[in-house]
Amino acid sequence: MPLSPVDGVPDPGGGDCVDCGRCCHHGPSTVHLLETDDARMGPLLLAEYTVLDHRPPGWRFVKNTGERCAALDVSVPGQYPCAIYAQRPEDCRIVEPGSPACLEARRLGHLGGSVGFVRAQPQPGEPGEREGSA
Ligand code: SF4
Ligand code: SF4
Repeated sequence: MPLSPVDGVPDPGGGDCVDCGRCCHHGPSTVHLLETDDARMGPLLLAEYTVLDHRPPGWRFVKNTGERCAALDVSVPGQYPCAIYAQRPEDCRIVEPGSPACLEARRLGHLGGSVGFVRAQPQPGEPGEREGSA
């Protein structure tokens, strides 16, 4: 379930992120990985938290659990830490606190469509584009 909207501009240093987690709520095949992300995560985390899209060109994405990223730790109600924060993909790093995508995610309760990152090679007929990431 998407979360409720959050008011206000967050701490640019990320101090509000664990209480927020809105940008980590999104549909499947949203957060894609680059080769550098693959290397940073390593085989164990890749196996647990990512999935290969077998459609060309074969992107790897973070897995979803329902309407949120599978790496989002929801074990404590109201807290949304990333279980793989140090190894999170570049897509996630792009959504900085206070950025347009962040503010939209807070307003919507989930990641929206205004994110500035776009697949390097959008595929014809694919909604391409990253709806965003976390
Ligand atoms: S939406 Fe913004 S404040 Fe919330 S977790 Fe994402 S970056 Fe942090
Ligand atoms: S991997 Fe990215 S989208 Fe998933 S919980 Fe971590 S920061 Fe959020």
